[in-house]
Amino acid sequence: MRFVMLARNPGLYSHVRLCEAARARGHSIDVINTLHVHMNITSNLPVLRYNGRRLPIYDAVIPRIGASITHYGLAVLRQFEMQGIFPLNESVAIGRSRDKLRALQILAREGIGLPVTAFAHGPRKAEDVIKEVGGAPVVIKLLEGAQGMGVVLAETEGSARSIIEAFSAANVNIMVQEFVPEASGSDIRAFVIDGEVVAATKRIGRPGEFRSNLHRGGTAIKIDLTPEECQIASHAAGAVGLNVSGVDMVRSSRGPLVMEVNSSPGLEGIEGATGIDIAGLVIAFLEKTASYGKTQTKGMG
Ligand code: ADP
Ligand code: MG
Repeated sequence: MRFVMLARNPGLYSHVRLCEAARARGHSIDVINTLHVHMNITSNLPVLRYNGRRLPIYDAVIPRIGASITHYGLAVLRQFEMQGIFPLNESVAIGRSRDKLRALQILAREGIGLPVTAFAHGPRKAEDVIKEVGGAPVVIKLLEGAQGMGVVLAETEGSARSIIEAFSAANVNIMVQEFVPEASGSDIRAFVIDGEVVAATKRIGRPGEFRSNLHRGGTAIKIDLTPEECQIASHAAGAVGLNVSGVDMVRSSRGPLVMEVNSSPGLEGIEGATGIDIAGLVIAFLEKTASYGKTQTKGMG
């Protein structure tokens, strides 16, 4: 098959592994820089150009769109979808996952356990929002943050109020969440492909750090999830509409709570900790599912 990957940095571990796995299984894969793609959306035939050259019709597109270019990246991905090219993850599902509030609202509607979360516009409601989640300590998150950046722990009501005020003054959208103390700097990352948990790790934050992200110095170890945790991870991925995702959960005294569903989960930590060939499983999913002309995406917008 003929694949294309949208990625800005072809040297990243995850991108290298996906290319290796595709080629090892007899496929071709082009890696193109999302920001160098030009689109013509006015013609009847949607056209994509890369460095002036018209791109061929691929069997599948693998989006690895960084959080800083979500808007343009999703427009490029939609253009591929308009050509009938199968996306590993659909643009609409990636859009849901990139907005933490939108994703949590979808998960809440499905009855999936979540940390108590509140949201309001502007700093005047700060006190109400803090009260809504049960008072300090609270976690304050940028709606479009990633890799642990933009996630802040406010230990007292006073600091929570000033952080909310500072974000509001900077016109940044945030949400406020109860702090789940049982997490104590660790969480679970479940890698879900096509509704099935194929690998899981426990991520432990570096000492003194409540965020367990590997990008913040955390480490990952292999763990087995309970059937309930597998079911919740799969349910969360399906609710957001992602074929391939990394579901972050914390083990709390009231059961597993989903924190977020990532649409471009990194492979390095989880392959390293579990020894599982996740890149190969992703490509195997495309072999099974992507077939140009037969597959229609569920829609855009
Ligand atoms: P990001 O998209 O930046 O990874 P997350 O919502 O996944 O944002 O939060 C990053 C990390 O911070 C989580 O993996 C977890 O370790 C910690 N964390 C986030 N929210 C909470 C919370 N409500 N209670 C306790 N720890 C949290
Ligand atoms: Mg996360």
